[in-house]
Parts: sequence; C-alpha cells; structure tokens
Amino acid sequence: MTTTWLSRAARSARWARNRIRNLSGPPKLVLLYHRVAELTEDRSQLAVSPANFRQHMAYLSAEFAVERFEDCADRWDETTVVVTFDDGYADNCLEALPILEAADVPATFFIATGTIGTEREFWWDELERCLVEGTFDPGEFALQGVPVDVRSSAAMNASYQRLFAWLQASDSVDIEQTLTQLRERGKLSASGRTTHRPLSAEELGKLARSPVTTIGAHTVSHACLSALSADQQRAEISRSVDDLKRLTGEEVSVFSYPFGNHVHYNATSVDICRELEFRMVAANNNRAYRAMHSSLEVPRLLARNWDIETFKRYLHLYRECF
Ligand SMILES: [Zn+2]
Repeated sequence: MTTTWLSRAARSARWARNRIRNLSGPPKLVLLYHRVAELTEDRSQLAVSPANFRQHMAYLSAEFAVERFEDCADRWDETTVVVTFDDGYADNCLEALPILEAADVPATFFIATGTIGTEREFWWDELERCLVEGTFDPGEFALQGVPVDVRSSAAMNASYQRLFAWLQASDSVDIEQTLTQLRERGKLSASGRTTHRPLSAEELGKLARSPVTTIGAHTVSHACLSALSADQQRAEISRSVDDLKRLTGEEVSVFSYPFGNHVHYNATSVDICRELEFRMVAANNNRAYRAMHSSLEVPRLLARNWDIETFKRYLHLYRECF
C-alpha cells in the first residue's frame, strides 16, 4: 500500500513539474564563466582553458541560438543559451574576447570595479597569495579571531577556508583591514600576481567597445550583499554602476549579485536592484532559467573547465532536468 501511494505521489509530482515547465516554455541556459586561462593551481576552479573555452563557444554557436543576457527574457519560444562572465579578470579581454568574437557569440561581463586598473588582486585571490607566498613567523597565529596556520598544505587549505568564510561575512572595510594585516604578517607588498590580474582601465574599454559584449555591474568590493546594511548594499551597487559609466562611457542596465547564491543576497538587494531599474539581474542558483523566474534573480549555471563531451552532457542535463 505504501509503495502504491508513493508511486502515485511520484507520478503526480512529475505531472505537476512537467505541467509547470510546459506552461513556462523552453528553458534558457545562462552560463557563468569567470576566467579563460591556464593556471598551474586553481583553488576555486574558476578558470577554463582557452582550448576548452574555444570548443564550448564553437558548440554553442553551431547548436543553439545564443542570446544576450539583457534580452533573454523577451521571448520563450525556444531553448537558448546565454554567456556571462563575473568579476573582471584581465584574461576576459586577452583570452576570452578574441574567442567570442571569432565564434560571433555575445557575452555579458559583470565587473567588480574596486580593483579595476589597480595592481591588486580580487580579495579571495589576495588571500590565497598571502597564505602561499607569505613569509610568516613560525607557529599558528590568529587574525580577527580566526586561527591561521600555513605549516602544511592541509593546514593552509583549512586556514584559507576559514578566512574566506570570515571575509565573505564582512564589509569592504573589514576585508581591507584583514588583508592589510595578513600582508604585513607575511611581509608582502600589495602588488598582485600577473596571473591573477584584474582588467586595466584600457582593457575594460576594449572589452566594452566590442560588438559582441555588454558590460554589467557586480559591486565595488565584491562583498557578500546579505552581510551588509541596506545603505552599504546601495552604495556598493550604485557606485559600481557609476564607475563603469565613467570608465566605459556607456549606460549600465544589468547587474549580478557577488557569489550569487540565494544566501549571498536578500530581499533588500532585490529591492535595491528594482529601485535602480536594472533591466535584468543575474544570480548563481544552479538551474535553468524559466519564464516563471524573476528577471531580478536570473539563475545561472556555473561552467567549469570541462572537455567538450562533458560540456554537452552538462547542458543536456540542465535543459532536460532542472
Ligand atoms: Zn563575482
């Protein structure tokens, strides 16, 4: 009896799910990339190699209609794909842009403006650099109450995770203070690694001028919005828009939430995006985008450094199941 009841419940859940999907039309697959680069170590797995990225784009161009992010809620008559990038690494201009232009694939780049045109790295990269390259006095120490130990690779990884979590719950002032203290303890300068360089102002300008790109905002400091007050959130979002207007001379109509999972932004963040009249806003909740979703919380699919067969399987899975 239990089995019959369960199978009926499963059938009815499947029916309801398919009904909703049919009503909402074919899904959009909004892909999220960060970097196109060959890295010897990629702790966050954010980099896709140029060879794999080239194959991804060739496949999308041959097999799908590829839409621009800002237009992707306009019609729901077929499954389309959208390409987006977050953060603003230099390789977006140096490696990704030529591949996108050759494949004629449009892409939207969401830029965290605080590090653009500086020698600094994004804060999670600077944290990694300090732990890996720092020359620390022997023994464990505490930073903001967080224990830090770099005496073995396992201890360093655990310290990275603990400090990352602390910084992700902090505002830009605390992030900066913590990194300054860590650099001082590790006897390091603020200049970052060339392999992890953000866009220069010139590179951002070049990226913005390409006919295949759109530039969107992604806050100034890449702080986690849900950890901030409403005023801090508004300042982070609107200042990044102002920075981009000044640097590119273009209007900014799209935004993406830093980190972007539903715990990393809140109702206040969405309200501020509505007030600022963004046309579309990207989140990072790993599912296909359907008509029933809000255009102020567009889910995206994180793209990893997959070979082309894995990439095809991934797209198929999300197109059919999520
Ligand atoms: Zn980001």
